[in-house]
Amino acid sequence: MLAKADTPLMPVAGGTDLLVSWHHQVKDDWKLLDLSNLHTELQPLRLTDDSLEIGALTTYWDVMSSPSVAAAFPLLAQAARQVGAIQIQTRGTWAGNIANGSPAADGVPVMMAYSATVVLESVDGVTEVPLDRYYTGYKQSVRRPDQLIRAIRLPRRTRRAEWFHKVGARSAQAISKLGVAVVHDDDGWRVVANSVAPTVLRCRALESALDGGATFGTPNEIRRLLDLDIAPIDDMRSTAQYRANVLSRLLYHWLTDSAGG
Ligand SMILES: Cc1cc2nc3c(=O)[nH]c(=O)nc-3n(C[C@H](O)[C@H](O)[C@H](O)COP(=O)(O)OP(=O)(O)OC[C@H]3O[C@@H](n4cnc5c(N)ncnc54)[C@H](O)[C@@H]3O)c2cc1C
Repeated sequence: MLAKADTPLMPVAGGTDLLVSWHHQVKDDWKLLDLSNLHTELQPLRLTDDSLEIGALTTYWDVMSSPSVAAAFPLLAQAARQVGAIQIQTRGTWAGNIANGSPAADGVPVMMAYSATVVLESVDGVTEVPLDRYYTGYKQSVRRPDQLIRAIRLPRRTRRAEWFHKVGARSAQAISKLGVAVVHDDDGWRVVANSVAPTVLRCRALESALDGGATFGTPNEIRRLLDLDIAPIDDMRSTAQYRANVLSRLLYHWLTDSAGG
């Protein structure tokens, strides 16, 4: 159906993002594709010795309520517990979080820090795109309208450190003012931030410094590296200044005080 459509169809998974925009948009040209009949194909969580596959209809709740998945990928469960509240956690999907493309998405940073790939399927076949190369701009991605996100794949690796922190106005039902996920494994450091650029993004200058063994004496040293990648804005949730300062201080204290030190 995606391949044959004249105008792009919008797949509906949990509907928790789509229905928010319902009130704000002219919907005359909306054509929705309900995925709910594909539950058997798209929902399974498959954890093997090598990887975790998150089917496109897997919800936050599915991950939180799987002790083996939460133990193997703790940041997924941690981020899931901070998405919306129970109603959203039981409907919202990880794939919908990626496809919606919000720079404030909470699931995307942890998946990106875990080196996730996005499995895209169309009638032409299956391709896999690293999540850190999926976005091309604000709400823009490499996904073609005829492709469906079929699953997300996370490699299983021994990790030396991992951390997720979300800053919101309160503990539940809060969109991120900023958020950060960090993973350190044999491939090096991945530092992923949300709400500080048009897309969720890796802070590559800081990652390179950490890979080179850098240590930091002040938060401002981290801030200078972050500034090479991030471009926060002022909006109704926060200011650019607050976002950059808090992100650098959170990272500084985690790196110097705890597992990252
Ligand atoms: C009250 C409330 C609180 C929220 N709180 C948070 C929060 O704290 N953190 C957060 O990150 N988000 C939050 N959200 C946003 C939302 O819940 C999440 O982004 C969620 O993961 C979206 O998943 P969904 O399955 O509901 O997506 P949908 O609304 O069904 O779809 C979202 C987008 O993805 C596309 N899509 C869905 N599935 C596929 C697929 N398989 N292939 C291709 N495209 C697809 C749709 O066409 C649409 O463009 C909140 C939303 C609400 C209403």
